[in-house]
Amino acid sequence: MIEPFPWLEPVAQQWRQQRQQGRLGHALILQGPEGVGKGALAEWITQQLLCEQGNGCGYCKGCQLLAAGHHPDRYALAPDGQQIKVDAVRQLINQLTGTAHQGGARVAVLTDAQRLNQASANALLKTLEEPPAGVHLVLVVGPGQPLLPTIVSRCQRLIVPMPKDEQIAAFIGHQSKSVLDWPYWPRVLGGPIALKAAMESGQLEQLNTVRAAWCRSLQSGLLAPELSQADNERASILLKVLYFELLSQCERDPARMTWCYPVLKRVAETQRWLDRQSGINLTATFQQLIVEYQDCAQEGA
Ligand SMILES: [Zn+2]
Repeated sequence: MIEPFPWLEPVAQQWRQQRQQGRLGHALILQGPEGVGKGALAEWITQQLLCEQGNGCGYCKGCQLLAAGHHPDRYALAPDGQQIKVDAVRQLINQLTGTAHQGGARVAVLTDAQRLNQASANALLKTLEEPPAGVHLVLVVGPGQPLLPTIVSRCQRLIVPMPKDEQIAAFIGHQSKSVLDWPYWPRVLGGPIALKAAMESGQLEQLNTVRAAWCRSLQSGLLAPELSQADNERASILLKVLYFELLSQCERDPARMTWCYPVLKRVAETQRWLDRQSGINLTATFQQLIVEYQDCAQEGA
């Protein structure tokens, strides 16, 4: 059991089975939405592999070194800024060519592996194909750019799905009602871990205000003032809220979809475009989307 994330159990069970049947590859991709516990699963797998009993007993030297945060055969690589850089990958590969300090397996966890750039992905290919004996690579992949097919084809893959609403509610606790009132929050913010963090930091409350502001703007045709003060990073999440607000309206009233679809598409495109730009006049961009919505609504009526 991976405490406190019980929804990871079926995926963990899948991994255990592959291992028991001797079907475990040396390179594994863990894929799933933000905030569902992929990192925790990677740590659990690491412990299973480095434990001298092979089960994460918690008492052996391997488990204790891990718990203390300095197991010499556990390697970690994460993006430096936006990318996992090729030098960092080369350094990791160099380290992995030696022998294991504790005489057992060695595990390298690559966090946000979707941020491998072309050069760093290429540098990793050979190691993925023929890793040194006893080496396991765990690629934790979040949303964003997909991995290169050449990487994917050399790895096994475990999907960590979004847990069910009841599981999310159980994890978030007594405040879950307000979070799950609008069932689209997991799609805007991510899984239970992300939702809980957003709730505790007050971000969720803010975004609830944002959602109300979008609804007012769509109705009046004028951008609400709360939406006009945004930087690029915030703009991306504001647009996500708008996208799912429109989608929720369409799902409540499917007839809307015929005229609302172009607006939805446009919001999604704008969001992707914003992620790559800077210095955009966001107020004008948002206002333009409101105008398009109203035009389409009029045509649809
Ligand atoms: Zn152990």
